[in-house]
Amino acid sequence: MLSSEDRTRSCATELVCRDCGRRLPLIDTTSKCLGCGNGLDIDYDYELARERLSEIPPAEREINIWRFEELLPIVDAKAQARVGRYSGRTPLIHADRLGAELGLKKLYLKDDSTSRPSLSYKDRVVSMAVARLLELGKDEIGCVSTGNVGTAVSSLASKAGVTAYVFYPSNMERGKARACRALGAAVCQLDGNYDEANRACRELALASGIQFANITLRPFYAEGAKTVAYEVVEQLEWEAPDHIVIPAAGGTLSSRVHKGLIELETVGLAETSGVRIDVAQAEGCSPIATAISDGSGRIEPQTPHTAAHSIAIGAPGDGPLVVDAVTSRGGSAATATDREIFEAIDLLGATEGILTEPAGGTTIACTARLANEGKLGPDDTVVAIVSGNGYKTLDEHPDKPWAEGVACDVDAMGEMLEEFRQHGVGATLG
Ligand SMILES: *Cc1c(COP(=O)(O)O)cnc(C)c1O
Repeated sequence: MLSSEDRTRSCATELVCRDCGRRLPLIDTTSKCLGCGNGLDIDYDYELARERLSEIPPAEREINIWRFEELLPIVDAKAQARVGRYSGRTPLIHADRLGAELGLKKLYLKDDSTSRPSLSYKDRVVSMAVARLLELGKDEIGCVSTGNVGTAVSSLASKAGVTAYVFYPSNMERGKARACRALGAAVCQLDGNYDEANRACRELALASGIQFANITLRPFYAEGAKTVAYEVVEQLEWEAPDHIVIPAAGGTLSSRVHKGLIELETVGLAETSGVRIDVAQAEGCSPIATAISDGSGRIEPQTPHTAAHSIAIGAPGDGPLVVDAVTSRGGSAATATDREIFEAIDLLGATEGILTEPAGGTTIACTARLANEGKLGPDDTVVAIVSGNGYKTLDEHPDKPWAEGVACDVDAMGEMLEEFRQHGVGATLG
């Protein structure tokens, strides 16, 4: 048992099955319900959370993902400390220049492209998984990754002194695999797509007994995504936005932003029932968007064909939760082609100076589409989540020409400058 000074302020009580309601103690290490085999969620004592949250005003709280630790599942303060206190609390930026292009006056970007330590939203979820691993007293962690889980696990495991094993599908982005190696992780590239790799890793987790961040530690992992909701609403001075546009892969981020919004209302911090969640997917991998747009609500698995690798999950585990989050709030879904995704990356770069990866491009392209279709109103407060960083995926970005072989000579350079001025920044000589 932990003594009181070794405990965080967490009000987590139990693991609970989302489908049959069966409850398990928080110390249980199963990630699936023993009754019906479905996913487990974390439950909290929300009365206690309301009380504890009012004891310390926001201004006196740490500025990181642990800020509202009452609503997070980690109870061991030492485990929490070993993961570090520097993830989370990314900027919320008023995107006036991009907003003018899209016809949205109050467009904000939640900029997780600057997330520490690994430049994507995955730092939030993996922080919870690694802290849970440490609570269990383990020193090895595995993960299966479309791209960014791998880099987040590599970084956070190193800092915590844990060995990391990263499993990637065959079509991984090489820059991210290289990053994992530089960060001290073992990398194994599998001969299959993400959904095949995911299935195999599930079996390996059972066979080897190694905890996997996004498989066996999943109930804890998923809770980290709620911090996006807490931060966005606080950064808007506790006035919830009208829309949050969220990219979806497995559906953890979009479904847990929904949960986080409900919690803010439950504990009395903000009115959030009017927030609509809009989900963004690549056209080449859109099982969730399709289930919402065609009105069926049924997820039909797909084989992904898109350059947006980090969100290419054809069989999304949390898909049904996302359908519920979007439809119960009256939101919508949109898709974007790869071409639109790369154009949106460039538009974001040229208006706001933020370089995102294809997942972020998908969010921006889908925000543009929803604005065009009138689903986002010109005066609505819209938050678009920029979930990853484009400096990690530049090798995948279509090349644009630049001027090459220009002499270090003031006349030649002056001529070039005139070319740029007359024909635009993409001008080339000869
Ligand atoms: C993983 C990821 C997402 C969304 O993933 P979910 O599985 O839906 O939570 C979005 N953007 C980026 C950059 C990601 O790496």
